[in-house]
Amino acid sequence: MIENENEFFQLHSSITRAKSLFKERFEQPLRGVSLEDAEQRLKSGRHLVDFQKIEFPEEELRKLFEDFCSVMKGFKFHEVAEVETLKAAVEAGELNWGSLVKKTYSGDPDFLSSLGERLGVSVDLLAYLGTNLGNPFFEMYAGQLRGKVDLEDWLEGRCPLCGSEAAFARLRRDDGKRILWCQFCGTEWGYPRIKCPFCATENHKKLRYLFTEEEKRYRVYLCGECKRYIKTLDEREIPEDEKPDLSFENLKTLYLDILAEKDGYHGRDSRQGARV
Ligand SMILES: [Zn+2]
Ligand SMILES: [Zn+2]
Repeated sequence: MIENENEFFQLHSSITRAKSLFKERFEQPLRGVSLEDAEQRLKSGRHLVDFQKIEFPEEELRKLFEDFCSVMKGFKFHEVAEVETLKAAVEAGELNWGSLVKKTYSGDPDFLSSLGERLGVSVDLLAYLGTNLGNPFFEMYAGQLRGKVDLEDWLEGRCPLCGSEAAFARLRRDDGKRILWCQFCGTEWGYPRIKCPFCATENHKKLRYLFTEEEKRYRVYLCGECKRYIKTLDEREIPEDEKPDLSFENLKTLYLDILAEKDGYHGRDSRQGARV
């Protein structure tokens, strides 16, 4: 979307700021998530948020989209025309932001690719907007349920709140425990270090990690069983006053994705099925 790496970080940081401001302003009740439902779902091993039930306020999503448009205007964003096409499609009632968010989050790749083809808009842009528009809402849902539902028994590699795969991990400073992180809702949860978050193998012969001498703060955990990997920040290698933001760490370490992919491992699973 933007070739220059520095500019890309600046864009990300401005979009992040727009999302925080949006959350600060947002005063409506969140619809479609109740504590009872969440507890019920957890009992049967499902993540807390029911995608069928959540309702996004369309008008608020439109405002957030407008905020993003103002941010994007300040950058050499390749897809300016595509953003306009998308906006026109929503105004004409061909699409609504709520369904774009739901389809992006529920991992429905067919929806995004056929929509992209129909409108002449890249799937990457649709996923980027869908993810960022949904972000503040999922973070608010997560905030509403955090601490109220006991996640101690959640032993899965996918997010207990929204069901997405872990996008990044950190090794906790105090005890080295592995904490997985969800890029969609910001939820963090503990997971054993000698276990693959994607296929759950505990075969230590299949699990290893790599790191570069220059930047020991990062590790890439590789699984020989499913050929997936997860990038990890080792907090014990960073100064105590540094408070890492995993969404930035994830972007800053694209060279590690390239390294792992060169070795035949892959990150995001494009075949991830719909989450309900
Ligand atoms: Zn999540
Ligand atoms: Zn695996």
